[in-house]
Amino acid sequence: MEQVVIIGTGCAGLTAAIYTARSNLSPLVLTGTLPGGLLTTTSIVENYPGFPEGVDGYELMTRMQKQAERFGARVQVLRVVEAADLSKSPFILTVDGEKVETKTVIIATGASHRHLGVPGEHVLEKKGVTFCATCDGAWPMFRNQSLVVVGGGDSACEEALYLTRFSSQIHLIHRRDHLRASKIMSARVLSNPKIKPVWDSVVAEVLDPKQDKVTAVRLKNVRTNAGTTLPCAGVFVAVGHVPNTTLFKGVLDLDDNGYIVPKRGTATNIPGVFVAGDCADHVYRQAITAAGSGCAAAIDAERYLAKL
Ligand code: NAP
Repeated sequence: MEQVVIIGTGCAGLTAAIYTARSNLSPLVLTGTLPGGLLTTTSIVENYPGFPEGVDGYELMTRMQKQAERFGARVQVLRVVEAADLSKSPFILTVDGEKVETKTVIIATGASHRHLGVPGEHVLEKKGVTFCATCDGAWPMFRNQSLVVVGGGDSACEEALYLTRFSSQIHLIHRRDHLRASKIMSARVLSNPKIKPVWDSVVAEVLDPKQDKVTAVRLKNVRTNAGTTLPCAGVFVAVGHVPNTTLFKGVLDLDDNGYIVPKRGTATNIPGVFVAGDCADHVYRQAITAAGSGCAAAIDAERYLAKL
């Protein structure tokens, strides 16, 4: 019987692991398919407190995992929760076919990249369509080629700026006429001569599935409905995220967009089940706020266990 199982190892999950481990709860920590979470796919994190020069996202997460393990967290890599029976305590999780009983669960499953849902996007994924410039931007197929980044938030800005290392022709396609990104990121993008914003436009189709590679995007101007074709060798999609909460649909209270709705602090509608990080946060969505909520979830779980 586990005291606490933590699902997910982004900032929220690993911070919860550090705190519950230091409370001698020996947490079982399941990474799922992306150990370290989405931050491992980013380059330099400049706004995590304590790192004036910035810190590599992968390094930050590796350090958090080591810190948790130092205090006794049992991190199991690439172990995926397939089902969660939260109908009664102890809860039963099915993890790669194996049943795990636990008194408390901290859900820190984070969020995944949102897709555009346009023709050509899915079929050309990894053939020029990608959701991560830091993971894929250095591929030879993108070097010195015209590239497209879609989105107007901090992620899109970060992707576009990263890609300037490999290409001098980056079109940033955004459906509005100004960026949603933070002031500092927007200013960097708009002053970079290698990045050309294409305002009021959406990608309607990615070409060309017949050639089995990206050759262009078909754009639509949302004000005029005019269509244009923009040749490119790569499409980097950065249009936000969807919470990884499918497992809990119909069991935990979710909002209309699928985010888990905490009741008080990090508690959910099921006593003993707590939530932290981006799977419950559509407002702040920062590494530091995820870490903070992971800390809070660990304290809430510890207090709940103390009362059993
Ligand atoms: P975001 O802030 O939600 O931005 C998503 C962007 O995609 C928006 O500009 C949105 O347009 C656009 N979009 C959404 N759906 C679309 C669709 N179907 N077609 C075309 N465009 C679409 O997401 P994010 O940029 O991933 O950032 C998420 C959070 O992480 C934010 O809180 C951000 O501050 C944080 N973050 C911070 C950093 C940093 O500080 N360096 C880096 C990355 C992320 P609209 O603007 O019209 O809604």
